[in-house]
Amino acid sequence: MLFSIPLKFDLLKVGSCQHPECVALRGGSRRAIDFPALVGLIEHPQYGLLLYDTGYSKRFQSATRRFPECLYRVITPVNLPPEQELLAQLESRGIAPKDIDTIFISHFHADHVAGLRDFPAARFVATGAEHRLCGKLGRLGRLRRAYLNDLLPGDFEARLSFAEQAPVLPMPAEWEPFREGRDLLGDASLMGADLPGHTASQLGLAFRTVEDGTVFLVGDACWKIEGLEGNAPPSRLAYALFHNRRDYNDTFGRLRALHSSARPPEIIPSHCSTTWTRRGGTRRILRA
Ligand SMILES: [Zn+2]
Repeated sequence: MLFSIPLKFDLLKVGSCQHPECVALRGGSRRAIDFPALVGLIEHPQYGLLLYDTGYSKRFQSATRRFPECLYRVITPVNLPPEQELLAQLESRGIAPKDIDTIFISHFHADHVAGLRDFPAARFVATGAEHRLCGKLGRLGRLRRAYLNDLLPGDFEARLSFAEQAPVLPMPAEWEPFREGRDLLGDASLMGADLPGHTASQLGLAFRTVEDGTVFLVGDACWKIEGLEGNAPPSRLAYALFHNRRDYNDTFGRLRALHSSARPPEIIPSHCSTTWTRRGGTRRILRA
């Protein structure tokens, strides 16, 4: 049965940047708000420790030292205090980099993959559609879309598999309009959902937690949870950077419908400071 195995789950904040609120929420103010880079740390009773994205890392600074990659850093200044670094947060829980079994990659933007090189033993799961898009772009095209190849390990391809290869299972009725997902671990505990629009494709993760809630990690399919509550999509300027506006609207609309349903899962966008604050920061459910 779907979600019969509950998973331990903690949300971590791994660096942040600042943008005007109106970028993330149409009609919002011009004041700068925090865009945390949120990372999911998950423990499965059989498959061990899993990550959803890695957030920022020191490697982001080195990958953006040269021109033209340095432009990325100028446009998006990153704040990463030492105590927020992913390796430091894992170490404080007694977790070594080699202990991470799998990293699920929402998409290949630098703020989601900057720490991949820190995990030499992990295998990676992403969508094939997103991977194909990255492969087609030249150096400038990648930069324009916030992809930085230097952040990927040398053996990245050998360790990568695609969500589309996992079997399709129907989602429970209360997940409408998300009707099916990919059974990423083969035991129906962790379902992958395609959330296209922001990029060619994005991998969302759905699962049940030991706290007996259901969680839906949605990457950049929505930037602020208030956007789903009040039907406020990102700014027109942000849309200009999206891969496909129609797909983005479709994904955003489906998330809104799910969010306003009778028993919605906790929808967690990767950069939502409101979600981070409402959860009370990290809860240390896992190896605390
Ligand atoms: Zn992002």
